[in-house]
Amino acid sequence: MDAQKGKIGVTAENIFPIIKKFLYSEQEIFLRELVSNAVDATQKIKTLARTGELKEELGDLTIRVKVDKENKTIIISDQGIGMTAEEVEKYINQIAFTGANDFLDKYKDKIDAIIGHFGLGFYSAYMVASKVELITKSYQEGAQAVRWTCDGSPEYTLENAERENRGTDIILHIAEDSEEYLDDNKIRGLLEKYSKFLPIPIGFGKETEYKDNKQVETDKDIIINETAPLWTKAPAEIKDEDYKEFYKKLYPQNWEEPLFHIHLNVDFPFTLTGILYFPKIRSNLEVQKNKIQLYSNQVFVTDSVENIVPEFLTLLHGVIDSPDIPLNVSRSYLQSDSNVRKISSHITKKVADKLSEIFKNNRVDLEKKWDDLKLFIQYGMMSDDKFYDRAKSFFMFKNIDNKYFSIEEYDKIVKENQTDKDGKLIYLYATNKTEQFKFINDAKDKGYDVLLFEGAFDMPFVNMYETKLENARFARVDSDIIENLISKEDKKEISISKTEQDDLTKVYEAVAPDKVGTYFVQFNELGENELPVVITQSEYMRRMKDVGLMGGPEVSLYNNLPDNYNLVVNTGHPLTKQVIENKNTDLSENLNDIADKIKKVEADIEALDKITKDKKEEEISQEEKEKKAKLQEEKSKFETEKSKLLKEWGMKNNLVKQIVDLALLSKNLLQGESLLQFVKRSVDFIEK
Ligand code: ADP
Repeated sequence: MDAQKGKIGVTAENIFPIIKKFLYSEQEIFLRELVSNAVDATQKIKTLARTGELKEELGDLTIRVKVDKENKTIIISDQGIGMTAEEVEKYINQIAFTGANDFLDKYKDKIDAIIGHFGLGFYSAYMVASKVELITKSYQEGAQAVRWTCDGSPEYTLENAERENRGTDIILHIAEDSEEYLDDNKIRGLLEKYSKFLPIPIGFGKETEYKDNKQVETDKDIIINETAPLWTKAPAEIKDEDYKEFYKKLYPQNWEEPLFHIHLNVDFPFTLTGILYFPKIRSNLEVQKNKIQLYSNQVFVTDSVENIVPEFLTLLHGVIDSPDIPLNVSRSYLQSDSNVRKISSHITKKVADKLSEIFKNNRVDLEKKWDDLKLFIQYGMMSDDKFYDRAKSFFMFKNIDNKYFSIEEYDKIVKENQTDKDGKLIYLYATNKTEQFKFINDAKDKGYDVLLFEGAFDMPFVNMYETKLENARFARVDSDIIENLISKEDKKEISISKTEQDDLTKVYEAVAPDKVGTYFVQFNELGENELPVVITQSEYMRRMKDVGLMGGPEVSLYNNLPDNYNLVVNTGHPLTKQVIENKNTDLSENLNDIADKIKKVEADIEALDKITKDKKEEEISQEEKEKKAKLQEEKSKFETEKSKLLKEWGMKNNLVKQIVDLALLSKNLLQGESLLQFVKRSVDFIEK
């Protein structure tokens, strides 16, 4: 086949279905587009009036929207600039041509705001209309009004018409499949959504009054919008109350007052205004419901701002208005748009600046709201390095006495006292004042300060924060005995022998609860003032488990880890000495007997080793090998016997049980039957 040449052109024939199907996924925005055009035309006439080019009075500029159920039409009327026949020809017929450009060229520096970002805006009418009529009269002196009609096919008619004043009526003959739009409530809803803050008054319906025994319409318009919303005003003119009131306007269902507001006002390198609020979040539901609203020159665009506002700030409420954000484009495109990225980082900076300012000038207020605010800031610091850098100076830690400190302030308080012998600064924290009471108390006795981390994000935040610290770390008060948490000197020599330690290990292992987790017996010289046994949980192991609890695929492993506790026997406590004494009284005969046996076997093993020491493996006789195996078996049999003896003794010993239960109790680990037994045993002790 011969090569064919052709031309693919965008014409009215193929553009309509494209508009209808692809250009706007949301049909309802036809109203936004047409009302925006009307606003645009009205803004233009205002500009002309200002420059003196308009010869007549500006007059009433109200844009009116009407639903005519009977004739199945929706009418949008403005008293803007209007169009001549040539302009209709040029702007409406030649679809791809954007008239705003021409106008902008001519009046470049004089226009406040022209909404011309909507591209094929006018033609979005065909998403709901089977026929569109446009009656328009230009502002120009002696202009002839014209009517343009088009039923969506490439053929249109343009003829002279009657219109008293300048301006444009767009009459949509609603298509059969779109008759849902012929409903006042539906249209009012859409106007309230998209036009709530447009700069020109939008009238929908008339106010009524009671006259001659019935309710009758007056000729007073019901105005849908607020033409000068708060964000367009200068911050200096706005009172705190105004911000709060505006918040209510934005979120009528949310009766909780916002914590703070930030008024954004940028004109370089992009234009952006807006007001952001830090809300008080009470439930997840609200997080979903109330969102930042995005406007372009006061036209509502969307309330999904994910790509424009940094993720951690999507929890904020309020409005952002910027003509520099590309509209009607895909989300992924937004992300790569350099303006959008600049806007996002600017907002981050503004939020940080504002908080920093409040930190400096209104500390008391900030502290009052901090617990509610902290979540945003932690989230931000965790997800955005730049924000972290800005926020670290005003981020506040709260201690268990409800005092708030920046890290710099806190370091001044704890640095000297809480630096250990290796020069590491230890920040102590508690997650539960009641459960960790004993350990908090121990820390206080040493003159240490304890932070309180009970927020939802505190632990992940601490994990992140720690990675940024040099020579400092966080330790939960109960993760070790206080002397070890901040060790000031080398550990005190343990005052009991290695043999006694081995014996006690068996005894205490026997009474440690086996259901709740694994207990490792350790020895420490803690003195008479500490409990005879203390139970601690390693910071490292606990955090591993915390990670597990937060979920995620790779963490179920940690989740299944048992709880590991340390059972620290205080070798400096008289009761420990007492346990040793009791044990020796009860068991020394048996223990000595077994010890002798073990010693003898060991001596035999040693003797045998001596003989075989210099021999090569193949020179050792079968007899010698068997003898050695037998001796070792014997030794381990004695050891098992010894361990069994100690365990059985431990399990029957009320003093040991009581000591361990007290340790469990002070860590809130004693529950159920064990608790009951403890109580009964205590009664027995008292009776004695
Ligand atoms: P855009 O608004 O992006 O220019 P539209 O298709 O919505 O694209 O409109 C095309 C042009 O038609 C506008 O730029 C404007 O010149 C003209 N126009 C549309 N609606 C009106 C109106 N209500 N009054 C005066 N001119 C209008």
